[in-house]
Amino acid sequence: MIKYIAYRCGYVEENTTAIMVWEAQYTEGFKEREEALKSLAAYLYKKYCEEYIAKPKGCCQKAKRNYCSQCGTRICKPSFNEKDFQLFIVELMNTTCDSFGGWDDYASDEMVWNPWSASIIDLTKENSICIPEDGEVSITKRVVTQ
Ligand SMILES: [Zn+2]
Repeated sequence: MIKYIAYRCGYVEENTTAIMVWEAQYTEGFKEREEALKSLAAYLYKKYCEEYIAKPKGCCQKAKRNYCSQCGTRICKPSFNEKDFQLFIVELMNTTCDSFGGWDDYASDEMVWNPWSASIIDLTKENSICIPEDGEVSITKRVVTQ
């Protein structure tokens, strides 16, 4: 069962040196690799929408570019933009507990992905997917927008 997804972002010389590792929580794991990747893509898409699409502040309405000049919030178009989403995924590699926020904000009976897995020592070839480069592209390809 797939329980972990690890990836680097970028391609060839632009490939990140760090690896992002996600652990699926509240689940035994996924039988199929594709199912696991789609689940992570859905989780990240939800987080992306919450942060960049769903809650612009009043001052952000006046923003003409990608950032609000008043509060610094990153502004995305209300529709899904692949390049913005890829940048969001790459930028997650530099977040902290504070800037990322709660990984389980969406926890209910839904499965969520934890970026601070304490059990990655259990990561094996059988229970993980490793994407050596262009992780942000692989994830973006699997986003289903509505
Ligand atoms: Zn603003």
